[in-house]
Amino acid sequence: MPLRLYNTLTRRNDEFTPHDPSNVSMYVCGPTVYDFAHIGNARPVIVFDVLFRLLRHLYGENHVTYVRNITDVDDKINARALRDHPDLPLNEAIARVTEATARQFDEDVKALGCLEPTHEPRATANIPQMIDMIGTLLRRGHAYEAGGEVLFDVTSMADYGALSHRNLDEQQAGARVAVEPHKRHPADFVLWKLSSGNEPGWDSPWGLGRPGWHIECSAMSKRYLGEVFDIHGGGLDLIFPHHENELAQSRCALGTSEMAKVWMHNGFLQVEGQKMSKSLGNFVTIHEVLKDWPGEAVRFNMLRTHYRQPIDWTNASLLSANDALDEFYRLRADDYSTHGDLDSGVLDALQDDLNTPAALKALNDIRTKIKLASGFEQIVLKRKLTASANLLGLLYKAKTVWFVSRAAGVDTQNVEALVAARLAARRARNWDESDRIRDELAKLGVAIMDNKDGTTTWEVKR
Ligand code: AMP
Ligand code: ZN
Repeated sequence: MPLRLYNTLTRRNDEFTPHDPSNVSMYVCGPTVYDFAHIGNARPVIVFDVLFRLLRHLYGENHVTYVRNITDVDDKINARALRDHPDLPLNEAIARVTEATARQFDEDVKALGCLEPTHEPRATANIPQMIDMIGTLLRRGHAYEAGGEVLFDVTSMADYGALSHRNLDEQQAGARVAVEPHKRHPADFVLWKLSSGNEPGWDSPWGLGRPGWHIECSAMSKRYLGEVFDIHGGGLDLIFPHHENELAQSRCALGTSEMAKVWMHNGFLQVEGQKMSKSLGNFVTIHEVLKDWPGEAVRFNMLRTHYRQPIDWTNASLLSANDALDEFYRLRADDYSTHGDLDSGVLDALQDDLNTPAALKALNDIRTKIKLASGFEQIVLKRKLTASANLLGLLYKAKTVWFVSRAAGVDTQNVEALVAARLAARRARNWDESDRIRDELAKLGVAIMDNKDGTTTWEVKR
């Protein structure tokens, strides 16, 4: 069965054929780092992590390049830096905010079982590439300077609006924002704007300034994935204007007929029927949720709904996700084995536009079969369950780790990081450090066992 993905551009479930099966490429718009990410922001990260895992399975681990950027230049970041570090020079204050927030984001999504993307580029490390692209757009007649800005001229592109399926006349008629007099067309958008006073700036042919939001993704996707790549993803709210404008910039600067082959968008995570968002104030941060729930339960709950559907986020649904995981962990193969066969039901479901609810149902069917089986047949089924769940980023922990950490309220993530650090110290023959970490774990009530087969396991002793 071939992989099919819903493409926002064609509005169809298209069969996926990569440009180059030995180098499949995916770009997902990442966070703007000024504050803790909320649980809605976790949705695209988890959804595209499942896709990343599936692509690695289909095309080979080393044949998929996944880029998820970090937006570390934005007016919200400036405001936060001025508020939190008024005594520091602006650049330092901004760096403090963006570094701490990006680190927190990486920790949060790791706890949700997400693999690291191949590249996680930062906007501020790609300013010359953006300036270069804006220069090309000006030279090719797709941009103009006005009112201290460089703007993209939307009328210079015949099919502007193709992704969001809007045409320019509709946009003009429906425009609710006041027309800014320096714009030739109300839909023209900023590529570069001049900075003054308390705003960060970089030298450019148009003066000291900073990039608009959209240009960063055009510049970074080109740098890391090339002029045309396979999959571009993000939440529904990014279709317009962000992705529409990225697409316009890239195609017009590079003279290509497409930017990405497939455009994928996840639906919203909602609270009482409303999109979870910072501006509505109805958000819970990933960090807060992880204090009460294992990251895996959050992930499981997220995957119970198809990625294009809205999800209503409730504690009751998290609780039942946690209970379902208990059931799965009870039957997980004990021997860490991921060498089981993949279940065709799970794989087929994922290949059908990432149908994770159907994949979880297939896992449940294996669970039922395990209960009815015995002996070697049961062992094979348990291995199949583990291997198939792993494809979704689930059931990675040893059974004991799941239950012990659930029961004792131990911070599993921290313990696992310490165990890994101790292993690294032992490999480097740094026995003092290895003993120090063992003591630190003992203080947390965790004992570690170095097994004959070279693995290290741990358990809670209290
Ligand atoms: P932002 O930091 O708002 O640019 O969002 C980062 C990513 O999270 C984007 O892909 C958004 O589309 C996505 N996102 C934001 N809020 C939600 C939500 N409530 N549900 C699902 N995705 C969201
Ligand atoms: Zn983007």
